[in-house]
Amino acid sequence: MAPSPSQTSEFVVKRPQLWIGALWLGWTICLTLVVGLWALSLSSATLSLLNNRQLAMSASLEALSESFQILERLPLSLAAGLREEAREATLTSERLRELQKQAQPLCELYYLNSEGQPLHSTDSVPEWLPPLLSAQLPPGGSLTVLRPLPPGLEAGRPSSRPLPELPENYLVVGSRLDSGEIVACQLDLGLVFGVWMLRPLHRSGLENDLTVVRLSPHEPWRPEIPPPPTVDLERWIWPWEVTREEPQWRWQVETLFPRQSFPFQQLEITLDNSRALKQLLGQQLTRLGLTLALMLAFAFSIVLTARAVRREGESIQAREHFVGMVSHELRTPLAAIEMYLEILREGLVDDPEKLQQYHQILGQESARLKSLVENLLTVGTLQKCHELERESVDLHSLIEELLSQFQSPHLSSRLEARPCRVLANREALRGVLSNLLGNALKYGGAAEIRTATGAGRLILEVEDEGSGIPRDQRAKIFEPYYRMDNPDGEKKAGVGLGLALVKGLVEALDGSISVHEGAQGGALFRVSLVLVEGEAE
Ligand code: ADP
Repeated sequence: MAPSPSQTSEFVVKRPQLWIGALWLGWTICLTLVVGLWALSLSSATLSLLNNRQLAMSASLEALSESFQILERLPLSLAAGLREEAREATLTSERLRELQKQAQPLCELYYLNSEGQPLHSTDSVPEWLPPLLSAQLPPGGSLTVLRPLPPGLEAGRPSSRPLPELPENYLVVGSRLDSGEIVACQLDLGLVFGVWMLRPLHRSGLENDLTVVRLSPHEPWRPEIPPPPTVDLERWIWPWEVTREEPQWRWQVETLFPRQSFPFQQLEITLDNSRALKQLLGQQLTRLGLTLALMLAFAFSIVLTARAVRREGESIQAREHFVGMVSHELRTPLAAIEMYLEILREGLVDDPEKLQQYHQILGQESARLKSLVENLLTVGTLQKCHELERESVDLHSLIEELLSQFQSPHLSSRLEARPCRVLANREALRGVLSNLLGNALKYGGAAEIRTATGAGRLILEVEDEGSGIPRDQRAKIFEPYYRMDNPDGEKKAGVGLGLALVKGLVEALDGSISVHEGAQGGALFRVSLVLVEGEAE
């Protein structure tokens, strides 16, 4: 029999591969650019964030220092003004009230008689203040009292009499007039280091990252104040260095009396940058993630398009290939039938043995033709409608019928002892069995057909003695028009429709088909079908 034309499933679709390659190259360049630009923008965003924070902090530290300087002079100037007005006898109740309002909330003003009692009945004076002032103020004298006292000032404290329990955190400036009356200004340091001090710091907008600690006045004075950090905007920060970059900045700030050798208070102000840096990195990573997701979606669409284009190309080539194959497959048996009929018609052969051989060839060729035409017709029907009429089919009798049709000594069977009825379409089953057995003989030389039942299903196996089907080809052989290269290089007749048809028929019967490696290394096709109710175990 004439060999069929070269049968291979490797179709090369060159042109689409070229533009898909170009797309991939473009995509890779874009990806590199995106990641590079992202790193660049992250670096500059980090540096400018640090720079902005440094500027904001410098401005608010300056404002804080200025307000401390103003505050330092406040009680002194208020007490002096009060003394002046008292001396000129212009300090009426109304005037005192007005001055008190101006000084609040940080300062309290007092106008007391020589015993330290308020001269205006509406005034209230803290209990500890009159004894403190009346005991320590000689006529015409003045004093400044700090609580708590900084180290070193303890010795110079002017105290002769026992004093009542004094509160912490205050600064009192008092003067006794020649007439014996006392004017005093009390600065509430609790307020100074609380709400008031935080106000200029809050103007920086960084309050959530600021920690302010009042250093103990008994701590040794450290005159070295580290300069505020400066951010070098010209340098480069790698993405993984962002959160490690300058996580904390710390300043030590003098508050009151900075010009004296013992500052009254020192503050330690810490700005934590790590939260802002983490947030920045998070935002930039989200942006990068979204861009990459978009790019991946694009890459995915390239893959899908490439696959669709390749499939389309393969399918066009396969169809062209198929038309050539079908015409060849139809022509070959027809030519043989024509030739042998001609010989018989002419009566050129008398030898009865030869005559019998010719009749046999005629029978085989017409069977081959019939099988091909039947396959083509069934494929056409399957493509139009997927519903097959079903009935109870005695599978064993159908197998026996087919085996006797094949009349091959290389086909054997090992069937379940009892009859098996499956819910199927008889003609469809015939198509399945004849294709599987035909392939087994064609590619495997010899084969065995087996049946078994279990869990409401019938398992039908056809195992041959050929060289089997490589693992990577097992899904492909069920695709229409797909033909595998034979390992021995021998060209077998066929158009690549048989197994596609078998799969289509089996699935239309609610069954399934799979291919495995047989015990001898040959191909093992396993079909699972629905048993008729009552047949199941
Ligand atoms: P055809 O036999 O007409 O080529 P099929 O759809 O029946 O088409 O089979 C598709 C391919 O699967 C065949 O070309 C063959 O290479 C491979 N094949 C099918 N059955 C077997 C088998 N029993 N052993 C080895 N290869 C097989």
